[in-house]
Amino acid sequence: MTEPRLGDEYDNMLACIRCGACLTSCPTYVLSLEEAEGPRGRVGMARAVAEGHLPVTPDLLAHELNCLVCDACSAVCPAGVHMDPLQAVFRSAVANNQRPGVAARLVRGVVFGWLFMDMRRFRAFARMLWLYQRSGARWLARHLGVLRVLRLADAETLLPEISSSFVVPHDETYATADGSPKAMAFFAGCIMSTALAAIDRATIRVLQRSGCTVSNPAGQGCCGALHAHGGDLPRALELAKRNIEAFESTDGPVVVNSAGCGAMLKDYAHHLRRDASWSERARKFSSRVVDLSQALAPAALQVHRVASQKVVYQDACHLLHAQRISRQPRDLLRAIPGVELVEIDEAGLCCGSAGVYNVTNPVESRQLQQRKVDNALKVTPDLIVTANPGCLLQLRNGLAARGSHVAVKHLAEVLDEATGP
Ligand code: SF4
Ligand code: SF4
Repeated sequence: MTEPRLGDEYDNMLACIRCGACLTSCPTYVLSLEEAEGPRGRVGMARAVAEGHLPVTPDLLAHELNCLVCDACSAVCPAGVHMDPLQAVFRSAVANNQRPGVAARLVRGVVFGWLFMDMRRFRAFARMLWLYQRSGARWLARHLGVLRVLRLADAETLLPEISSSFVVPHDETYATADGSPKAMAFFAGCIMSTALAAIDRATIRVLQRSGCTVSNPAGQGCCGALHAHGGDLPRALELAKRNIEAFESTDGPVVVNSAGCGAMLKDYAHHLRRDASWSERARKFSSRVVDLSQALAPAALQVHRVASQKVVYQDACHLLHAQRISRQPRDLLRAIPGVELVEIDEAGLCCGSAGVYNVTNPVESRQLQQRKVDNALKVTPDLIVTANPGCLLQLRNGLAARGSHVAVKHLAEVLDEATGP
């Protein structure tokens, strides 16, 4: 595994002209109004570490790790600073200089190094969670206070109801009724293909109904975003290479239904640009990646059902900021008769999910979650739609805590219901 070097993102750091245009877009700056909690401060600190002017103190590390890697700063930066790869490289480079505590070592070793690296293990783990939810063990754990003792009570409420059957990519093809030759390859994901497999199946059906023959190549797995943002870029790149290889035998765009995965897959080209044997393969792969909302044309949707409801579309940071996609999902929702799309205040502000941020930074995550829920409830929607699993679970959790019955669905589920027979 190639070790990340801070110098790999030095040009990115040097690009910052310290204009401050990013400050008011940054969720952690908006919450704290502290320079060290904003993009300009984080770029400056990373650069000072890279140049050897600053040691990596716990305080500095905390400010860097409070970053949600939401890319809201990158989206408005006039100088082209890109926070996502900067954080990925910084966290990995610094992780190697630190003496991690037991919990951090456990996360890196067991979760990143073992569980997410092999989909058979991941599916076995998801099956155990399914059993935990269905067997009464959950009821016992909650009522005996076991979760509180293990400090897992909050994290456990974020768990979705695990799907009873998973999507297991094995080179199968989902053809259209008329045998359309329009080929697309599907990125199934790790959490999406297991815990949220119903959304993966809905995605495949919607693609089929819009005239695509969908292939689901074996050998694909986790996209590596959690590793990259968690300070383990080498393992993220190992996963990247496996995914690139898995999709080389497929044709057409690589369709993704998770904003976070899509942003990571599109970044493979950047992360592997200096690897002579992989740079060209990564470039080709990343150029094929499209979000589900980019793969579908609103005019071609065969809508059979009217859905008379007031709908809020929740922009996932990794779609809106990282991939600059905001119009396409809204156009698809507007194509459903009866949908009244309403916009909310601070639509571009992160909901606080951000990978595992709601577990690692529960205080800031909750503040952002409450802010998002407040803004959404102000417009009294019937339904909130998003295109990212993290936002989906974060909003469901926030609304449930308020006793709200507003439904939260993935875009693929809404399109599946509207185009179903
Ligand atoms: S907008 Fe870009 S150039 Fe300006 S301070 Fe922020 S990161 Fe630096
Ligand atoms: S990525 Fe998001 S949280 Fe991090 S500095 Fe940029 S705007 Fe702030």
